[in-house]
Amino acid sequence: MTHPTDPVPFTSSYIKSREIPLGPTAIGGEGFLVVAGPCAIESYDQFSQTANAVAQAGAGALRGGIFKMRTKPEAFQGLGFDAFDIVRRVARETGLPMISEVTDPRQIQDMGDVLDAFQVGARNMHNFELLKELGRQPKPVLLKRGLSAYLDEWLAAAEYITREGNPGVIFCERGIRSFERATRNTLDLSAVPYLKERSHLPVLVDPSHGTGVRNLIAPMSLAAAAAGADGLLIEVHPEPAKAASDGHQALDFAMFQSTMTGLRRILSAVDRPLRTHRAGRA
Ligand code: PEP
Ligand code: MN
Repeated sequence: MTHPTDPVPFTSSYIKSREIPLGPTAIGGEGFLVVAGPCAIESYDQFSQTANAVAQAGAGALRGGIFKMRTKPEAFQGLGFDAFDIVRRVARETGLPMISEVTDPRQIQDMGDVLDAFQVGARNMHNFELLKELGRQPKPVLLKRGLSAYLDEWLAAAEYITREGNPGVIFCERGIRSFERATRNTLDLSAVPYLKERSHLPVLVDPSHGTGVRNLIAPMSLAAAAAGADGLLIEVHPEPAKAASDGHQALDFAMFQSTMTGLRRILSAVDRPLRTHRAGRA
Protein backbone atom coordinates (compact mmCIF):
# COMPACT_ATOMS: atom_id res chain seq x y z
CA MET A 1 0.00 0.00 0.00
CA THR A 2 1.46 3.38 -0.95
CA HIS A 3 0.46 6.96 -0.28
CA PRO A 4 1.32 9.84 -2.63
CA THR A 5 3.45 11.46 0.06
CA ASP A 6 5.55 8.37 0.87
CA PRO A 7 9.22 9.19 0.13
CA VAL A 8 9.88 5.49 -0.55
CA PRO A 9 7.03 3.07 -1.19
CA PHE A 10 6.55 0.36 1.45
CA THR A 11 6.58 -2.92 -0.41
CA SER A 12 6.85 -5.62 2.21
CA SER A 13 3.69 -5.38 4.29
CA TYR A 14 3.10 -9.09 3.81
CA ILE A 15 4.00 -11.92 1.51
CA LYS A 16 0.93 -13.47 -0.03
CA SER A 17 0.62 -17.19 0.60
CA ARG A 18 -1.32 -19.87 -1.23
CA GLU A 19 -5.05 -19.84 -0.55
CA ILE A 20 -6.25 -23.05 1.09
CA PRO A 21 -10.00 -23.79 0.94
CA LEU A 22 -11.64 -24.33 4.33
CA GLY A 23 -15.28 -25.34 3.99
CA PRO A 24 -17.11 -22.29 2.62
CA THR A 25 -14.13 -19.96 3.28
CA ALA A 26 -10.34 -20.12 2.94
CA ILE A 27 -7.07 -19.46 4.73
CA GLY A 28 -4.26 -17.57 3.01
CA GLY A 29 -4.25 -15.41 -0.08
CA GLU A 30 -5.42 -11.86 0.53
CA GLY A 31 -8.04 -12.45 3.20
CA PHE A 32 -7.45 -12.66 6.94
CA LEU A 33 -9.34 -15.37 8.88
CA VAL A 34 -10.10 -15.41 12.59
CA VAL A 35 -10.75 -18.88 14.02
CA ALA A 36 -12.33 -18.65 17.46
CA GLY A 37 -14.01 -20.83 20.05
CA PRO A 38 -13.46 -22.53 23.37
CA CYS A 39 -10.36 -24.48 24.32
CA ALA A 40 -12.62 -27.50 24.86
CA ILE A 41 -16.23 -28.16 23.92
CA GLU A 42 -18.02 -28.67 27.24
CA SER A 43 -21.72 -28.73 26.31
CA TYR A 44 -24.09 -27.79 23.51
CA ASP A 45 -25.02 -24.52 25.23
CA GLN A 46 -21.42 -23.48 25.85
CA PHE A 47 -20.32 -24.21 22.28
CA SER A 48 -23.39 -22.82 20.58
CA GLN A 49 -23.37 -19.55 22.56
CA THR A 50 -19.66 -19.10 21.86
CA ALA A 51 -20.00 -19.92 18.17
CA ASN A 52 -22.81 -17.42 17.68
CA ALA A 53 -21.00 -14.69 19.61
CA VAL A 54 -17.74 -15.07 17.69
CA ALA A 55 -19.53 -15.28 14.32
CA GLN A 56 -21.39 -12.09 15.15
CA ALA A 57 -18.12 -10.36 16.04
CA GLY A 58 -16.39 -11.33 12.78
CA ALA A 59 -14.85 -14.78 13.20
CA GLY A 60 -14.88 -16.83 10.01
CA ALA A 61 -14.30 -20.31 11.47
CA LEU A 62 -14.76 -22.20 14.73
CA ARG A 63 -12.37 -24.04 16.98
CA GLY A 64 -13.22 -26.32 19.90
CA GLY A 65 -11.29 -29.17 21.49
CA ILE A 66 -12.86 -32.64 21.33
CA PHE A 67 -9.82 -34.74 22.33
CA LYS A 68 -7.55 -32.71 24.63
CA MET A 69 -3.82 -33.26 25.20
CA ARG A 70 -3.70 -32.29 28.88
CA THR A 71 -0.51 -32.20 30.91
CA LYS A 72 -2.06 -34.17 33.77
CA PRO A 73 -4.08 -37.34 33.25
CA GLU A 74 -6.64 -36.37 35.90
CA ALA A 75 -7.49 -33.15 34.00
CA PHE A 76 -10.56 -32.91 31.71
CA GLN A 77 -9.64 -34.81 28.55
CA GLY A 78 -12.44 -33.46 26.33
CA LEU A 79 -15.88 -34.92 25.55
CA GLY A 80 -14.41 -37.15 22.85
CA PHE A 81 -16.97 -38.80 20.60
CA ASP A 82 -19.80 -37.35 22.71
CA ALA A 83 -18.94 -33.93 21.21
CA PHE A 84 -19.62 -35.01 17.63
CA ASP A 85 -23.36 -34.33 17.70
CA ILE A 86 -22.75 -30.94 19.30
CA VAL A 87 -20.29 -30.03 16.55
CA ARG A 88 -22.68 -31.14 13.81
CA ARG A 89 -25.54 -29.10 15.28
CA VAL A 90 -23.52 -25.94 15.86
CA ALA A 91 -21.81 -26.10 12.47
CA ARG A 92 -25.22 -26.46 10.82
CA GLU A 93 -26.71 -23.58 12.84
CA THR A 94 -23.87 -21.14 12.23
CA GLY A 95 -22.69 -22.28 8.79
CA LEU A 96 -19.10 -21.83 9.99
CA PRO A 97 -16.32 -24.31 9.21
CA MET A 98 -14.88 -26.24 12.16
CA ILE A 99 -11.29 -27.04 13.16
CA SER A 100 -10.35 -29.42 15.98
CA GLU A 101 -7.34 -31.37 17.13
CA VAL A 102 -6.79 -34.99 16.19
CA THR A 103 -4.54 -36.69 18.73
CA ASP A 104 -4.37 -40.22 17.31
CA PRO A 105 -4.49 -41.61 13.75
CA ARG A 106 -7.38 -43.88 14.82
CA GLN A 107 -9.62 -40.79 15.22
CA ILE A 108 -9.02 -39.48 11.69
CA GLN A 109 -11.83 -41.23 9.84
CA ASP A 110 -14.56 -40.20 12.28
CA MET A 111 -13.16 -36.70 12.82
CA GLY A 112 -13.03 -36.19 9.06
CA ASP A 113 -16.84 -36.51 8.97
CA VAL A 114 -17.42 -33.55 11.29
CA LEU A 115 -14.41 -31.28 10.67
CA ASP A 116 -13.35 -28.97 7.85
CA ALA A 117 -9.69 -29.10 8.91
CA PHE A 118 -7.61 -31.21 11.29
CA GLN A 119 -5.45 -29.56 13.92
CA VAL A 120 -2.14 -31.10 14.96
CA GLY A 121 -1.28 -29.89 18.45
CA ALA A 122 2.12 -28.67 19.57
CA ARG A 123 2.76 -31.95 21.39
CA ASN A 124 2.25 -33.93 18.19
CA MET A 125 4.25 -31.86 15.72
CA HIS A 126 6.92 -34.57 15.81
CA ASN A 127 4.44 -37.45 15.53
CA PHE A 128 5.41 -38.27 11.97
CA GLU A 129 3.09 -41.26 11.55
CA LEU A 130 0.16 -39.00 12.43
CA LEU A 131 1.41 -36.37 9.96
CA LYS A 132 1.81 -38.94 7.17
CA GLU A 133 -1.70 -40.27 7.70
CA LEU A 134 -3.07 -36.70 7.59
CA GLY A 135 -1.12 -36.24 4.36
CA ARG A 136 -3.39 -38.85 2.82
CA GLN A 137 -6.61 -37.03 3.79
CA PRO A 138 -8.64 -34.69 1.57
CA LYS A 139 -8.92 -31.93 4.21
CA PRO A 140 -6.44 -29.25 5.32
CA VAL A 141 -4.18 -29.62 8.34
CA LEU A 142 -3.45 -26.81 10.79
CA LEU A 143 0.03 -27.64 12.05
CA LYS A 144 0.98 -26.07 15.36
CA ARG A 145 4.61 -25.40 16.21
CA GLY A 146 6.16 -27.90 18.64
CA LEU A 147 6.87 -26.68 22.17
CA SER A 148 10.55 -26.25 21.39
CA ALA A 149 10.70 -26.79 17.64
CA TYR A 150 13.16 -24.95 15.44
CA LEU A 151 11.55 -23.22 12.47
CA ASP A 152 13.38 -25.60 10.16
CA GLU A 153 12.01 -28.62 12.04
CA TRP A 154 8.53 -27.18 11.68
CA LEU A 155 9.00 -26.68 7.93
CA ALA A 156 10.18 -30.29 7.68
CA ALA A 157 7.14 -31.50 9.63
CA ALA A 158 4.89 -29.78 7.06
CA GLU A 159 6.67 -31.72 4.34
CA TYR A 160 5.67 -34.99 5.98
CA ILE A 161 2.10 -33.98 5.16
CA THR A 162 2.56 -32.45 1.72
CA ARG A 163 4.75 -35.31 0.44
CA GLU A 164 1.88 -37.74 1.00
CA GLY A 165 -0.25 -35.67 -1.38
CA ASN A 166 -2.10 -33.19 0.85
CA PRO A 167 -1.08 -29.63 -0.15
CA GLY A 168 -3.34 -28.00 2.46
CA VAL A 169 -1.03 -27.25 5.36
CA ILE A 170 -1.47 -24.16 7.52
CA PHE A 171 1.22 -23.22 10.04
CA CYS A 172 0.12 -21.96 13.46
CA GLU A 173 2.64 -20.21 15.74
CA ARG A 174 1.57 -20.84 19.36
CA GLY A 175 4.63 -19.79 21.33
CA ILE A 176 7.72 -21.71 22.35
CA ARG A 177 9.35 -22.66 25.65
CA SER A 178 11.84 -20.08 26.86
CA PHE A 179 13.35 -19.08 30.21
CA GLU A 180 10.56 -16.53 30.71
CA ARG A 181 7.84 -17.57 33.17
CA ALA A 182 5.67 -14.43 33.20
CA THR A 183 3.94 -15.71 30.07
CA ARG A 184 2.94 -19.32 29.45
CA ASN A 185 5.05 -19.41 26.27
CA THR A 186 7.09 -16.92 24.30
CA LEU A 187 5.18 -15.92 21.17
CA ASP A 188 7.62 -15.81 18.28
CA LEU A 189 6.12 -13.36 15.81
CA SER A 190 9.29 -13.39 13.72
CA ALA A 191 8.18 -16.87 12.67
CA VAL A 192 5.49 -15.27 10.52
CA PRO A 193 7.64 -13.39 7.98
CA TYR A 194 10.35 -16.09 8.23
CA LEU A 195 7.99 -18.90 7.23
CA LYS A 196 6.44 -16.77 4.52
CA GLU A 197 9.81 -16.26 2.91
CA ARG A 198 10.60 -19.95 3.10
CA SER A 199 7.26 -21.46 2.13
CA HIS A 200 4.10 -20.65 0.20
CA LEU A 201 1.87 -21.96 3.00
CA PRO A 202 -0.34 -19.67 5.14
CA VAL A 203 0.62 -18.81 8.72
CA LEU A 204 -1.78 -18.28 11.61
CA VAL A 205 -0.93 -17.00 15.09
CA ASP A 206 -2.44 -18.34 18.33
CA PRO A 207 -1.95 -15.57 20.93
CA SER A 208 -4.00 -17.54 23.49
CA HIS A 209 -1.51 -20.37 24.00
CA GLY A 210 1.28 -18.06 22.84
CA THR A 211 0.95 -15.87 25.91
CA GLY A 212 -1.45 -17.67 28.28
CA VAL A 213 -2.40 -14.22 29.59
CA ARG A 214 -5.83 -12.81 28.73
CA ASN A 215 -4.77 -9.15 28.64
CA LEU A 216 -1.96 -9.83 26.16
CA ILE A 217 -4.17 -11.41 23.53
CA ALA A 218 -5.54 -8.24 21.92
CA PRO A 219 -2.13 -6.53 21.53
CA MET A 220 -0.53 -9.72 20.19
CA SER A 221 -3.44 -10.25 17.78
CA LEU A 222 -2.91 -6.79 16.34
CA ALA A 223 0.84 -7.31 16.13
CA ALA A 224 0.35 -10.64 14.34
CA ALA A 225 -1.84 -8.97 11.72
CA ALA A 226 0.76 -6.23 11.25
CA ALA A 227 3.52 -8.85 10.92
CA GLY A 228 1.71 -10.42 7.95
CA ALA A 229 -0.12 -13.37 9.52
CA ASP A 230 -3.00 -14.86 7.52
CA GLY A 231 -5.22 -15.19 10.55
CA LEU A 232 -5.58 -15.89 14.25
CA LEU A 233 -6.68 -18.76 16.49
CA ILE A 234 -8.26 -17.36 19.65
CA GLU A 235 -9.83 -19.06 22.67
CA VAL A 236 -13.18 -17.63 23.77
CA HIS A 237 -15.51 -18.84 26.53
CA PRO A 238 -18.89 -17.54 27.78
CA GLU A 239 -17.60 -17.64 31.39
CA PRO A 240 -13.82 -17.98 31.42
CA ALA A 241 -13.68 -18.45 35.21
CA LYS A 242 -15.74 -21.63 34.83
CA ALA A 243 -13.89 -23.10 31.84
CA ALA A 244 -12.87 -26.77 32.06
CA SER A 245 -9.49 -25.90 30.52
CA ASP A 246 -7.38 -22.80 29.80
CA GLY A 247 -9.86 -20.38 31.40
CA HIS A 248 -7.01 -18.00 32.38
CA GLN A 249 -6.34 -17.27 28.71
CA ALA A 250 -9.91 -17.33 27.38
CA LEU A 251 -11.51 -14.08 26.26
CA ASP A 252 -15.11 -13.43 27.21
CA PHE A 253 -17.43 -12.20 24.47
CA ALA A 254 -16.86 -8.50 25.19
CA MET A 255 -13.06 -8.85 25.08
CA PHE A 256 -13.29 -10.79 21.83
CA GLN A 257 -15.48 -8.08 20.30
CA SER A 258 -13.08 -5.36 21.31
CA THR A 259 -10.12 -7.35 19.97
CA MET A 260 -11.94 -7.60 16.63
CA THR A 261 -12.55 -3.85 16.61
CA GLY A 262 -8.83 -3.18 16.98
CA LEU A 263 -7.98 -5.87 14.46
CA ARG A 264 -10.17 -4.30 11.77
CA ARG A 265 -8.13 -1.09 12.06
CA ILE A 266 -4.83 -2.90 11.56
CA LEU A 267 -6.22 -4.94 8.67
CA SER A 268 -7.35 -1.83 6.93
CA ALA A 269 -3.88 -0.28 7.40
CA VAL A 270 -2.24 -3.33 5.77
CA ASP A 271 -4.95 -3.60 3.11
CA ARG A 272 -6.25 -7.04 4.00
CA PRO A 273 -9.96 -7.93 4.04
CA LEU A 274 -11.35 -9.86 6.99
CA ARG A 275 -12.94 -13.14 5.92
CA THR A 276 -16.12 -12.81 7.92
CA HIS A 277 -18.94 -15.27 7.96
CA ARG A 278 -20.76 -13.61 5.06
CA ALA A 279 -17.66 -12.72 3.09
CA GLY A 280 -16.46 -16.29 3.51
CA ARG A 281 -19.65 -17.68 1.99
CA ALA A 282 -19.87 -15.21 -0.87
C1 PEP B 1 -5.26 -26.06 21.52
O1 PEP B 1 -5.24 -25.31 20.54
O2 PEP B 1 -6.30 -26.35 22.10
C2 PEP B 1 -4.00 -26.62 22.05
C3 PEP B 1 -3.99 -27.64 22.88
O3 PEP B 1 -2.91 -25.97 21.63
P1 PEP B 1 -1.36 -26.41 21.63
O4 PEP B 1 -1.31 -27.75 20.93
O5 PEP B 1 -0.74 -25.31 20.86
O6 PEP B 1 -0.91 -26.47 23.06
MN1 MN C 1 -6.31 -24.45 25.08
